[in-house]
Amino acid sequence: MHCPFCSFEGPPRMLHAHLGEQHADAVRFEEKGGRSFYALSCPICGDGYEREIKPRGRDPGFVDEFSAQIRLVAFDMLVNHLLGEHETIFSGDTPGPPSELPPDEETEPEQPAPLGEAPVPAWLAEARRAKQENGK
Ligand SMILES: [Zn+2]
Ligand SMILES: [Zn+2]
Repeated sequence: MHCPFCSFEGPPRMLHAHLGEQHADAVRFEEKGGRSFYALSCPICGDGYEREIKPRGRDPGFVDEFSAQIRLVAFDMLVNHLLGEHETIFSGDTPGPPSELPPDEETEPEQPAPLGEAPVPAWLAEARRAKQENGK
């Protein structure tokens, strides 16, 4: 897999570690109405993820203390998203999503199947028929 932020390349597990080390600031921490959220946007398609941070108890230092772990969870989602949505742009060195990553809870919108037989245009059908007739 390619890192969406730089030229790093490696298997999903290494990419995950790389994201946490090199691109930790891609995860944003936000406060809304006294609640804490973390947010992460896909740098390729701009798809955004936002999750509430639920501190154990009401520890005001929770986000600071656990920001590293929260980032790892956020990058889990990004790696899953990259595998699910952008796998075709990767060079094919990672067949299938890694089983060690948890599945994304978010329900992705249904994508129309990109592959499948396109109907043959009339002019092409005509050309093929003409070629068969001439080939006698
Ligand atoms: Zn990178
Ligand atoms: Zn994306």
